[in-house]
Amino acid sequence: MRCPYCSNKETQVKDSRPAEDNQSIRRRRSCSACGGRFTTFERVQLRELSVAKRSGKTVPFDRDKLYRSIRIALRKRKVDDERVDQLISGIVRQLEASGESVVTSDKIGGLVMDGLKMLDEVAYVRFASVYRNFREAADFGNVLDELSDDKITVLADVNADKDLADKVTDDQ
Ligand SMILES: [Zn+2]
Repeated sequence: MRCPYCSNKETQVKDSRPAEDNQSIRRRRSCSACGGRFTTFERVQLRELSVAKRSGKTVPFDRDKLYRSIRIALRKRKVDDERVDQLISGIVRQLEASGESVVTSDKIGGLVMDGLKMLDEVAYVRFASVYRNFREAADFGNVLDELSDDKITVLADVNADKDLADKVTDDQ
């Protein structure tokens, strides 16, 4: 498993234990090059999901990629990996329950926004600001209206969030 921080291929498993009611195995890993720590989950995949992108291309659903874009939205927010993984599992279950094997990236983006709204309001606005592109200034105002004042001050860097923009506009 490649290190998400430095891309080194040598990482060690420090701890393995069941998670999500024994539906997955959670592993704590550490990178032997940079010392970075991260968590991976191993789970059964019942069927393959594909994503229809705005460009018209269809690509395999990539859970890790979804994880990375959510993590960027959650940057510097205190939300642990287990909760992020639960959010993604919930999204995947909804996609699988739809019965379609091809889902649109818009559908996934919408589910991510719904989930982030419950999980962390700041991350929600970061994700939404990029995902929707705030084509109309009114959109941004509406989202801010839904937030409490103390959260808004944390959003100063929303529009400078180039990393997230790259991930999300990459369509997923
Ligand atoms: Zn590393």
